Amino acid sequence: MNFQTILEDIVATLQPELGAAGTVASYIPALACVDPRQLGIALHTCRGEEAAAGDSATPFSIQSVSKLFTLTLAMQRVGDALWERIGREPSGNPFNSLVQLENEQGKPRNPFINAGAIAVADRLVTHAGSGEGAKADILALMTSLSGEPIGFDAEVAASEAATGYRNIALANFMKSFGKIDNDVAPVLDTYFNQCAVRMNCRQLARAAGFLCRDGAHPFGGRSDVTNERQTRRINALMLTCGTYDAAGDVAFNIGLPCKSGVGGGIVAVVPDQLTLAVWSPALDATGNSLLGMKALELFVAKTRLSVF
Ligand code: GLN
Repeated sequence: MNFQTILEDIVATLQPELGAAGTVASYIPALACVDPRQLGIALHTCRGEEAAAGDSATPFSIQSVSKLFTLTLAMQRVGDALWERIGREPSGNPFNSLVQLENEQGKPRNPFINAGAIAVADRLVTHAGSGEGAKADILALMTSLSGEPIGFDAEVAASEAATGYRNIALANFMKSFGKIDNDVAPVLDTYFNQCAVRMNCRQLARAAGFLCRDGAHPFGGRSDVTNERQTRRINALMLTCGTYDAAGDVAFNIGLPCKSGVGGGIVAVVPDQLTLAVWSPALDATGNSLLGMKALELFVAKTRLSVF
């Protein structure tokens, strides 16, 4: 299959729709000024081949795509004890919803909604001994996996910290149930910074590469990122919970484990074959990239690659 041609075709097909529908995430002020008329796509195969088209080299705020990588770190560090604090069920609710948390005594439904990712950040802070240590661990993982230096966008992190009322509420609410061990301040600082990681599609496709090769590091010769069982579980969670209350539609229309973010990025996995990263900033009502999802639908239609 000529992946380069396929990706170029997808970008050309969607070009006329750039900027036509959807809205950028304006609730984070620093994201409100991103030009919505951008579309990038990149792919990394389990044999190490790469292809990319459109704005694939333009860095963006990975936002909740980061939850996939912090979950990976927490699985490496905490192991199965992680699941004492966090569930594995789709929430069927928006990613920043508070309602379920009260009914379920402060235990988040899954690690990909905001409450779950904040609980994961708490585990990382405990393991690293401080918020600064947890942030350094996150950047070290992203840098190792993508093979290029990766950093936080300080402006985006500050913008979220200044306006993240719901996330602050979620953290305090979980703390009131005794489900957060550390002070909420370093936990939230870790969470806001992980959301503000800046990467481009090429780097993201490569960084997620361990998910299409049973946990093996994208660059051969290094120790595995996760074991086979952990890798299967991350993919399962991405399929069932990775796109919030759109997860059913995404499984139906695309049929691949995906993790999205409100920066407009989506990572998708074809197990044993390849990983894809797409980015287009305009979002649909569920907070997923509108054209990113269309790009994935086109990819699956053209290649017939799907887990089903
Ligand atoms: N930083 C965003 C928030 O906490 C992440 C949400 C997302 O990407 N879905 O609201």
